[in-house]
Amino acid sequence: MAFESLSDKLQNTFKHLKGKGVLTEKDIDAAMREVKLALLEADVNFKVVKEFVADVKAKCLGEEVMKSLTPAQQVIKIVDQQLTELMGGENVKLSYSPTGFTTIMMAGLQGTGKTTTCGKLANYLKESGKKPMLAACDVYRPAAIDQLEVVGKACGTPVYTDRGCQDPVKIANDARAEAERKGYNVLIIDTAGRLQIDEELMQELQNIKEKVKPHQILLVVDALTGQDAVNAAKGFNEKLDVDGIIMTKMDGDARGGAALSARKVTGKPILFLGTGEKYNALEAFHPDRMASRILG
Ligand code: GDP
Repeated sequence: MAFESLSDKLQNTFKHLKGKGVLTEKDIDAAMREVKLALLEADVNFKVVKEFVADVKAKCLGEEVMKSLTPAQQVIKIVDQQLTELMGGENVKLSYSPTGFTTIMMAGLQGTGKTTTCGKLANYLKESGKKPMLAACDVYRPAAIDQLEVVGKACGTPVYTDRGCQDPVKIANDARAEAERKGYNVLIIDTAGRLQIDEELMQELQNIKEKVKPHQILLVVDALTGQDAVNAAKGFNEKLDVDGIIMTKMDGDARGGAALSARKVTGKPILFLGTGEKYNALEAFHPDRMASRILG
């Protein structure tokens, strides 16, 4: 087999110890080395790995693992539980405003899949019985407005645009007024992206946050960029105090490193995963399922 999963590796580590009698702390260390390597290979942040392994080791020493007849299974179970915990434990759902009208602001770097994800979210909302509208608030790139219109058409969701206007706050507020007037109940605001986090972008996003007062700010990050994705999430969150993360391109990332570190580094939950280019390729994020996927 070309690819040996972390579970297999742990099983193998303990196989060597079979018939040896009681396990020692050193044996647990050998297993922890496998865990550490697997996580580093998955591009999980070094600090996160260090803390994680220390936690798992403490749990292994503290529980009945050492005397167990099936130490490998016990260790795998603990790793599984701790991975789930690291990613927030439970699935966190999108929150709707109690006022009956929910404004969702989308933020993220260019190329992460923000515009595509706006369409996916609209699709998801429609399937959940909501009536979404999209608002094009990237005032710098006319192509971004065109793209959102294409996305809106493809997923049957109206898009509010105002090509003559350079003020994203005005566009968002006008879009909201129009959405309410027409009986829609969720507004998804697509904001400008840049290739890197810069002061100007952050100020614009903070301004939209302050004046439009979205109920939710969702940050779109690209799983394929690994630790860069986590750093971007950290940077955006420090300025915007986001409500949740959508991790895109998980279909191309079997390792899950960014998904693993994101919660720990930002303290914010991952709400959804993007798993393809189509508008239905959006999945609710379940930490336990992701843990099983990483363990293999
Ligand atoms: P934006 O610049 O952040 O608005 O990014 P776009 O929405 O234009 O997406 C950039 C590229 O990523 C496009 O080719 C999308 O089809 C692609 N993309 C977005 N989300 C996903 C995903 O979950 N999986 C895959 N494989 N591709 C995605």
